[in-house]
Amino acid sequence: MPLHHAASFATNKLRSVLAHITPRSLAVMAVLVLAFLVYWAMLLDSQHKQLAHSEEQARLRATQMSATLAVQVETLVTGLEHLARSLAAEYASSPTSYFKRSVHTALTVFPPGSITQIAVADGDGRIVYSNLAPSQGQSSVSIADREHFRVHRDRAADPRLFISHPVLGRVSGLWTIQFSYPILDPRGAFAGAVVLSVAPDYISGYFREVFATDTDVAMLLHGDGTYLARSATQSRVLGSRVPPEREFLRAPQARSGEYFITAPVDGVLRYYAWHRVREYPLVVSVGLSQEQALASVRANLRDSLRRNVIGTLLVLGASFWIVLLFARLRHDRQLLAEGEERFKLALEGGNLGAWDWNIRSGRLIFDERWCRMLGYRSGMLEAELETVRRLAHPDDWVKIQAALNTHLYGRSELFEIEHRARHRDGHWIWVHARGRVTHRSAEGQPLRMAGTQADISQRVAETLLRRALLDNTGAEIFLATPGRDIRFSNQRAIETFSPDGRSLDGRSMRAIHCDDGAYADFQLHYTALRAGKSIRTEYRLRTASGEPRWFSIHGTLLDPNQTDGDVIWTMIDVTERKQAEEALGAARGRLSQIIEHFPGGILVENEDGRVVVANQALCDLFASVPTPAASLVGQEHVALRRLFPREVLDIVLSNETTSPSETLLADGRNIRATRIPIRHGTQGVDRLWIVHDVTEQRRHEQVLEQLASTDALTGLANRHTFLERLEIELARIARGGLGGMVAMLDLDHFKRVNDRYGHAAGDAVLAHLAGILRRVLRREDMAARLGGEEFALLLPGADPAGAAALSERLRAALEQSHIETLRGDIRITTSIGLTSLAGDAKTLLARADAALYRAKNSGRNRVVMASDEDVPA
Ligand code: GH3
Ligand code: MG
Ligand code: MG
Repeated sequence: MPLHHAASFATNKLRSVLAHITPRSLAVMAVLVLAFLVYWAMLLDSQHKQLAHSEEQARLRATQMSATLAVQVETLVTGLEHLARSLAAEYASSPTSYFKRSVHTALTVFPPGSITQIAVADGDGRIVYSNLAPSQGQSSVSIADREHFRVHRDRAADPRLFISHPVLGRVSGLWTIQFSYPILDPRGAFAGAVVLSVAPDYISGYFREVFATDTDVAMLLHGDGTYLARSATQSRVLGSRVPPEREFLRAPQARSGEYFITAPVDGVLRYYAWHRVREYPLVVSVGLSQEQALASVRANLRDSLRRNVIGTLLVLGASFWIVLLFARLRHDRQLLAEGEERFKLALEGGNLGAWDWNIRSGRLIFDERWCRMLGYRSGMLEAELETVRRLAHPDDWVKIQAALNTHLYGRSELFEIEHRARHRDGHWIWVHARGRVTHRSAEGQPLRMAGTQADISQRVAETLLRRALLDNTGAEIFLATPGRDIRFSNQRAIETFSPDGRSLDGRSMRAIHCDDGAYADFQLHYTALRAGKSIRTEYRLRTASGEPRWFSIHGTLLDPNQTDGDVIWTMIDVTERKQAEEALGAARGRLSQIIEHFPGGILVENEDGRVVVANQALCDLFASVPTPAASLVGQEHVALRRLFPREVLDIVLSNETTSPSETLLADGRNIRATRIPIRHGTQGVDRLWIVHDVTEQRRHEQVLEQLASTDALTGLANRHTFLERLEIELARIARGGLGGMVAMLDLDHFKRVNDRYGHAAGDAVLAHLAGILRRVLRREDMAARLGGEEFALLLPGADPAGAAALSERLRAALEQSHIETLRGDIRITTSIGLTSLAGDAKTLLARADAALYRAKNSGRNRVVMASDEDVPA
């Protein structure tokens, strides 16, 4: 385990343990901490008080010492005063050898080195005696300028001891304090002064006996603040004064006092106590170093503090440790409880039954859930392996035994099997049994085995259902590995693709592809799938029979989150559809060819009135229609209304008829148009327009018609036309119209013309007659060649007389005319029979024929009117 993992594991563990510290533990801890706080407050307070007390003690000691020293100084100075006064009195009475003896005695009484000199100055200040130079009679040394001399001289009336500031000896070069007393002559006049020089070192030496170290000091000060002596660093202070703010300088009445300062001389903080020396202008000050005074107390306090800190930490640490131990205990207990709970939950949640098999004794215990799973209550089943055998499906028992043996002999990590077991109700359920040997003897013999059993009927049913669904779907389904091997294929896929009908699982997808190239090409779809796309494509695959067929293929990742995972391919055979599409495509192609080459305009509108198809012929028909035809596709109905002539639109947009109608355009063209509804599906109706330019056709038909109604040789109406017209006229007359006449002509001896001049000449004669007829007849009349050299005239509105006159004019015209041929001129006549335009056509013609017959018989070349006799019975 890497170090940081170990560390984080430990932190996590600690965290989970800490989570188990109970509020009660926390409260105990809090109380403990609180108690310590109080204890510490008291401790610190007591220490503070101790310090204050020590300070108080130090101050008291200083005061006492200063008082004591003041008394001692007083004794010393009193002694000095007494000496000085005695010497002064003695010197005044006998300044001789007796005085010298007194001096000597005095010097022996005082400790050696205390009085450095005893001198006497005369009234003028001249030193007249000094014990240091006892033989010196007259000295040149004068102290007249010194204060200790001047004071006595100036106040001789008030003789008392004068104490000088320390002075640096002019002769000795040493500091001395002069204790002087005036000498008065017997009359009481000033006569000089006795001067006792006392070394400050003496006083300070005395002080030093009391204060061995430099930290505490004692000093003697003049009443004006000048240093006279100091137990330490005296040489530095001699000749100087204490600062003017000292209490004894500011309050002359005060006898004593104290102050607390850092000494300017040596920088030590001290408690000072001062005391005035009674009767003398002197102050004794004692300074005790605070540090020194409190040192032992402070050391004690520090020591106590350290011990207390250690004690507190130990107690707190120990209590926290105890709390932690409790928490840990609780944590472990909970883990254990959770473990048990989890196991129980796992059994319950997984609906697991448990069993425990003592292999030695053969006792196999089933728990309540195990029994319930099979419909029994606990206790109803014998606790032995036989129970399992009895309930297991006979087909499965062999497998159970095999799996059990494998595990008991240590050949499997886990005993695991799915098998059927009979429910108490009689039906089979599927169970999943798992177990493991929990105890083995030293020799490896299995002693005990335990395990679980789950009811997996539901899962098995679902698996079977899924299997059934997959196998009964209309599609071929494959699950392919990333390496394009078949992991699973459904039954239908096997039927479609497996040549031998065996499972395809484990084989390469190559098996269903037509060839290596097709297999390789399909790889691109895998690539697209890996890129997160889903695939929908059509591809030719090789089916079991070897026949390539088209499949619509849908590909998707099994797990969309795992792009490099398995792929599901769903395939549907679309070969028929593909073929139908191809056929449809071909049909479409043909249709479009037909439409394009159709000799006429075609346009198809869908039910919304939009153009679906139009051909070029339609565009060519009308200048207003844009070209190419494709530009019409998609046009709306409204737009079409602007493109086509109104006459055409009247036809194709009329709702009435679907039969072709014709119309004549302003440009003279005949247009025939049809609108044909094309029904498709159940509702949709497209409209097909077919538009033809029939101008040419009409013209042609007219010609044909004319040809049919006209005699080719003469250009006159033929028999058929004549009879039609005759019917029309008869009908008109029958409706009360104006009457008319009909004439029947037959050339006389025409046979002879043919015979003599030839048939062609005969034809020319016939044409000649036609010419005369055309010239003579009116517009409304009709001349027709009924056949051979027989002609008929229809004369509507003519009366018999008129008709006779006209016939006569005709006859005469022919008679007088001649036809020129190579063989000479031909002259010819005609006979004409006349009858009124009445009755039916057949009778009428018979009557005319009869009149003609009579004209022939009566000599030819004449006109005969039909008589009543000519009317057939
Ligand atoms: P008739 O005065 O009695 O009528 O004497 P005909 O010779 O005219 O006698 P008929 O009317 O019986 O004879 C008609 C002849 O007309 C017979 C035929 O050779 C001749 N013929 C008929 N049709 C044509 C034709 O189209 N061209 C020519 N050249 N001759 C025709
Ligand atoms: Mg004839
Ligand atoms: Mg004739």
